[in-house]
Amino acid sequence: MNGFSRRDMLRAGAVGSAVMASQALASPLNGTRMLPAEMDRDVFAAAIKELRSIVGNDWVFADAQSTVSYNKSFIPDPEGLYLPSGAVAPASVEEVQAILKVANKYKLPMWPVSTGKNMGYGMATPASNGQMVLDLKRMNRIIEVDPDLGTALVEPGVTYQDMHDYLEKHNLPFWLDVPTVGPIVSMLGNTLERGVGYTPYGDHFMFQCGMEVVLPDGSILKTGMGSVKNSTTWQAFKWGYGPYLDGLFTQSNFGIVTKLGMWLMPKPPVYKPFMVRHPDADDIGKITDTIRPFRMNNLIPNGVLIMGAAYQLAMFHRREEFWSEEGSIPDDVVKKAAAKNGLGMWNTYFALYGTDEIIAATEPIIRGAFEASGGEVLTEEDMGDSPWFHHHATLMRGGMSLEEIGIVRWRGNGGGMVAFAPVAPAKGEEPKAQTVLAKEIMGKYNFDYAPAYAVGGRELHHIIFLMFDKSDPEQEKRAAQCMEEMITRFGEKGWCAYRSSISTMDLVADQYGDTNRQVNARLKRTLDPNNIIAPGKQGIG
Ligand code: ADP
Repeated sequence: MNGFSRRDMLRAGAVGSAVMASQALASPLNGTRMLPAEMDRDVFAAAIKELRSIVGNDWVFADAQSTVSYNKSFIPDPEGLYLPSGAVAPASVEEVQAILKVANKYKLPMWPVSTGKNMGYGMATPASNGQMVLDLKRMNRIIEVDPDLGTALVEPGVTYQDMHDYLEKHNLPFWLDVPTVGPIVSMLGNTLERGVGYTPYGDHFMFQCGMEVVLPDGSILKTGMGSVKNSTTWQAFKWGYGPYLDGLFTQSNFGIVTKLGMWLMPKPPVYKPFMVRHPDADDIGKITDTIRPFRMNNLIPNGVLIMGAAYQLAMFHRREEFWSEEGSIPDDVVKKAAAKNGLGMWNTYFALYGTDEIIAATEPIIRGAFEASGGEVLTEEDMGDSPWFHHHATLMRGGMSLEEIGIVRWRGNGGGMVAFAPVAPAKGEEPKAQTVLAKEIMGKYNFDYAPAYAVGGRELHHIIFLMFDKSDPEQEKRAAQCMEEMITRFGEKGWCAYRSSISTMDLVADQYGDTNRQVNARLKRTLDPNNIIAPGKQGIG
């Protein structure tokens, strides 16, 4: 980038557009709304006029007051570098096409969101100031659920709650797989971000089948079998013919996805959730080595969560109940508070699915292995009305729960939180070392280490939530610095994030190497020469 980082450019844009925005608006909220860098306010006004003619006045938000909800995010943004210029909410694919035409004409960048609830990573806010949020929540039809194949085709605004209600209403014998705040987020947005859940269908992109994408030039691509004349297999067969294109539209900015196919899990006759309690912080190595073979041979079929005690406490409690010092909460304090609540330092949630006979055959094998690792294997009967057990038992059957939102209240009232999610191979020594490093860095910045490990097949997503008080500018700045150091130092060891907050997309993209960035840039230039879809997303464009 010619010696300038994108951050430098964002800063320049922030200053320039703040001036323009304050010229344009005489509102007490001046400065919270940004125009794209280098965009003249008359040009912006002309674009807005055209957008209004497409979707109607009510669905274009271009003044400071009506865009407040789009500015809201939990991540640290001490310099105000990630604020939209407004939002536009189309109701159809045709309107999306017409909007992209205007975006190309005026070079007005569009940041697509489905429901915009990407909590740990920036909500609806864009990767640089002035992008217009392309809010797809009005496109919320469940187009089809095939009761024989257990497949669904949905629009962007369909939430997990919508689909849950649909399945109940039509008495369909399928389960969903939800991320932690499932009821309010979209199936499409979470899958495009390659999010995870906690049933056997936990890897959402793995269970995705077929997409409809509006490309930046307005043309429509249906992936997989979707473009075949009279196709009956769009949601049944993922791979189609020739290069597999769906991946290009996940964690990317090459198109607007307007329909997505998903597979639904057949509801099992019997479901049995478990929690395994381990007492010590460094048990994470043993836990990982115990789970790995069971995930590889699928005796444990679901997306397992290994929950750290501090994270568990933060869901239902506030920090000041246990610790009011400035420095990180010490392990012994966490351990004591966890024990009082029936929790260990690590609490591993897995489940068995099938028939009584199947579960009776596999449970003793898994129990034996966990007990040999020093864990106590507990069931619903043992855990009684533990809210933690209940929460995870709900997630592992794809149920609706919003309880994890509680973690934004852990520290102060300002609601600050950002996630760092480096990947580790499922070999005990590696997560053990990651935990030590994360604790060291977070300790240096006086934040609490509140982790979870989400176990895939052969790897773990180490989910580290940095919780801070966003109403405290000093803390917000410190949170941003801590995040940068964590990403950098983990990256030096080869541990990179699988997903990133909008504020650190370049930093992470760099860690994946020059060739990777160049290929993405070439694809971007070919598909989106005017760079109008989500510039900066995943460090592209
Ligand atoms: P959630 O379902 O968690 O609310 P979001 O709507 O916030 O998800 O979307 C998460 C991210 O995925 C967005 O920031 C955007 O980069 C991308 N995204 C969401 N919807 C689309 C879409 N329809 N087409 C292309 N990218 C999208």
